[in-house]
Amino acid sequence: MDGRALAERIRGDVAAEVAQLGGLGLATLLVGDDPASATYIRLKHEAADEVGIASRDIRLPTETSEAELLERVAELNADDAVYGILVQLPVPAHIDEARVLRAIDPMKDVDGIHPLNAGQLYLGRPTLVPATPVGILALLDEYAIPLEGARAVVVGRSDIVGKPVAHLLLQRNATVTICHSRTADLARETLNADVLVVAAGRPALVTVDMVKPRATVIDVGSNRTDAGLVGDVDPGAMEIAAFMTPVPGGVGPMTVACLLQNAVRAARFRRGALAFPAA
Ligand code: NDP
Repeated sequence: MDGRALAERIRGDVAAEVAQLGGLGLATLLVGDDPASATYIRLKHEAADEVGIASRDIRLPTETSEAELLERVAELNADDAVYGILVQLPVPAHIDEARVLRAIDPMKDVDGIHPLNAGQLYLGRPTLVPATPVGILALLDEYAIPLEGARAVVVGRSDIVGKPVAHLLLQRNATVTICHSRTADLARETLNADVLVVAAGRPALVTVDMVKPRATVIDVGSNRTDAGLVGDVDPGAMEIAAFMTPVPGGVGPMTVACLLQNAVRAARFRRGALAFPAA
């Protein structure tokens, strides 16, 4: 499954929509100097520039207090030129991450992790949904993978990938199982999966013998190793799966493209073209 090709098409569509909307702004907040976070932020800004979204890159030192960060979020909430706000995670340990995420105006929450947006997804009425799960569903649809009645197994239960993708699959009438680090027999679960989504951050967690023949496998894992960037699934599984995403070139590019799509969606909410539920 070619995430790069689909992501490029989505970025083209987003560029056209941004031009039609007459420009919009995205602000990112990065606290500290974690190199991986800095790389993600750079990629997001490059992608935003490319589609005509004006992006503001706010960097704060590691010692920034929670109150200072909350103040910056409040400023961005009040700024009419800013349609989307993204706080790069993780934040340093002395800052309460949940409190910061709650402080973001839900209508500007392009990462889809404010409790209001997470709750809307849980209720089956999605507003802004985290970009990686949106990208996964777009890939499944692009390859016309049947979801209704399918057995879907999600490995990982994070707020940003595992839980939201499980809810999107449920909404599409798949029968969903969520696995995690305490799952007693992971292979027994994954072998049942018509659609297997793996987001654990453990290289080669899913071996070839854990994949059902002709299954569709979405490898979300993005692990930097001595051998380069690898996923959570043994690439040998491509031989027995009907469809599978490569790493790199699968879910990664889709995440960035769908984040831009979320910025457009946020603008539509702000401008009243889409109804946003009252908080
Ligand atoms: P988290 O670390 O937040 O969550 C990992 C999840 O995997 C947890 O629920 C954990 O279980 C579960 N897990 C860990 N070990 C095992 C195991 N041995 N067996 C079963 N489940 C296990 O990670 P994220 O969801 O943020 O990210 C997951 C991966 O996806 C990472 O590699 C990350 O880099 C990648 N990623 C890639 C993106 C992309 O665009 N390509 C975007 C976002 C993430 P428990 O809850 O019990 O601890």
